[in-house]
Order: sequence, then C-alpha cells, then structure tokens
Amino acid sequence: MRLDSIDLYRVRLPLVYPFRTAYGDAHAIESVLVRMQGVGAAGWGEATPWESPRYSPEWAAGAYSLARDWLAPQLVGRDIGSGAELQAVLAPFKGNPFAKAALDLAWWDLEARLRGKPLWQLVGGRSDRVEVGADFGVMETVAALLDSVAGACAAGFKRVKLKFRPGWEIDVVRAVRLAFPDLVFHVDCNAAYALSDLELFRALDELAPAMVEQPLAHDDLLDHARLQRQIRTPVCLDESITSPRAARQALEVGACRYLNVKPGRVGGITPALEILEAGREAGVSCWIGGMLESAIGASHCLALATLPGVSYPSDIFPSRRFYDHDLTRPEIELAGPSVIRAFDGPGIGCQPEGEVLAVRTVESCTVRPSTVSPSC
Ligand code: MG
Repeated sequence: MRLDSIDLYRVRLPLVYPFRTAYGDAHAIESVLVRMQGVGAAGWGEATPWESPRYSPEWAAGAYSLARDWLAPQLVGRDIGSGAELQAVLAPFKGNPFAKAALDLAWWDLEARLRGKPLWQLVGGRSDRVEVGADFGVMETVAALLDSVAGACAAGFKRVKLKFRPGWEIDVVRAVRLAFPDLVFHVDCNAAYALSDLELFRALDELAPAMVEQPLAHDDLLDHARLQRQIRTPVCLDESITSPRAARQALEVGACRYLNVKPGRVGGITPALEILEAGREAGVSCWIGGMLESAIGASHCLALATLPGVSYPSDIFPSRRFYDHDLTRPEIELAGPSVIRAFDGPGIGCQPEGEVLAVRTVESCTVRPSTVSPSC
C-alpha cells in the first residue's frame, strides 16, 4: 500500500505507582506513538523505550527524533507491501529497534484494518485468548510483596514474576517460596549481575523458579551460555535479544532455554515473527514481554501472544494495573483468571481517544512526502 503520511507523538504516561526494577524507579512511561495513513485508513503503532537509555541504548525522545528525521521520511510516499519491505527500507539505519518497531507495528495495524481482519488473525493466531501473568516490582516491604502474591494467587494468575535487584534478591525470593510452596514464579534480574555472582544463582536453583530472566549484561550472549551450563534454572533472555540474528546466535550457543519476545525491543512484529519461528524450530519456549505500553502497544503484544510457540504466560497487563486512564477506549481488561482476550475489531481493535492523547502528548509532528529529507 502507498503510505500517504505518518503522524508521530511522544507521550508521557503517569503510572499509578512507581515501577521499581534494577534500573531504578519509574514514575511515568514515555512512548512513541505512530499513526500511519494510507489507502484511506490509519494504523497505530507504539514503541516504549522509556524516558532514559537505561533499559537499552534507546530512549523515547531519541526514538521520536530518529523516526521524525530519518525513518518516517523514507517510508512516506512509498508503496510498502509487507513488513519485510518496510524493514528493508529502514535497514540502512543501524540498530534502533524501538524506533523502527513503532513504524513496523503501525504498518501491521494498517494492513490488518485494510483487510478487515483482527491483527491476531493476520499474524496467524489460533485464538484471541491469551494467558498472562502477574508481575511485581521491588516493594517497600517483603510483607507487602507476600500480600500481593497472595492476591495474584487468589485471582487465579498462573504465574508470578518477581524483580531482583541488589538488596532485594535471594532472601525475598526465599520468603515467597516458603509462603507459596507450589507457586510458579520466575525472577527478572534486568541485567544487574555478572558471571562472578554464580553462587547467587546456585542458591536460586534451590528455590525452583521457572526461569531466571536476563541475569547478566544487556548485550551479552556468551556469559549467559556459560551461566546456563552451571545452573539448573532455565535462563530466559530479554534485553540481549535485539534482533532475529541475536536470537539465532543465542539459541546456537545455548545461552537460554526461554525467549522473552518484545516487539519493541526486536524492531517490530516482522522480526518478532522470525524470532518466534526460530524458537519453535529450536524447541525453545517463548513468551511475550511488555514495556508497560499503553493499550496500543499492548494490543500488538496480545496479537503476538496468540501464536503457537508462546507457551508461558505473557507480561501483558490490564490497563488499570498501571494507569488511571489508558490512551484508548476500550481499555484492556482481564477476561478471566490469568486471561486477556485480543480485541476483535479490525487491526488492533482500538485507537487513542483524541482528548487523552492530546493531554499526554509532549511533542508531535506529521511527516509527508513533501517533507522528506535527502536520502543518506
Ligand atoms: Mg525482563
């Protein structure tokens, strides 16, 4: 389809309470939203690298600038017939998967809307029903965490994710295991540790988590392979998987037994589909992670989570878990214990409310063919 124009928005979404991880305490989430127009319709995308380059080398203001000055100008006025074509046009620009993902996601939503199909069906999902987990960051006290885990169990969540950071690690997890002997849980380290912390991970083995997520550096594969050979707990890679090539190499060297696939971190739905296929071929389980996106980005995550090979509950949350007022109507809600259903309308099935988007927008622009920058 020919792409007529691309609207870009940098938005700031206040959280209902701080999200505490090894990267620090986030009080608001920054996202880049894309509205891509073509053939008389519009598709929405979102990438959420957050406000500062702590999770990855990208950040929202940087991704917005890159999309405005370099990426979107390459796309407007062109016929783009597939996600692979879009990725090929953007390929000369190195790295920056979040910025590319915002555009890739918008293309997929537009394509699905033009075909009159829900996105989850277009990408090959078999059911709109997605299993999701509960996720708890670092809290004020261990007692508060135990209360929250008890609430998640009572609500029927099939697994719980705990954050790990220095000062909130093995003793906390031991307390959870003692209180909940049958709980399926895993631990996310957000790249806070090194291979020299082997004894910590051997102690974690004794508490039988389902996996340990991104224990070592954000750009590492080989030390993860070395760690995996020395512990029983399956390693899951998150930050390290920034492309299909990184996923293939991780699988080849035995760096992980699970893949957390986030469409933003890997460059969009197009590369995410490749990674899920690589996981299926290798017999490695995948699940879909999130960056606390608004319902726009979360709806793309839901579409991916309907695919075969996604066999562990995903990190996709009801809107009210983190936001007083999400960007869209409808908002995302639980459809049952540990279950969210992908929206049934064409595309992602939702779009931002104009007034809410206006309030949350920090800066915005429209890229049209007449504003195209010279090609590099
Ligand atoms: Mg993670």
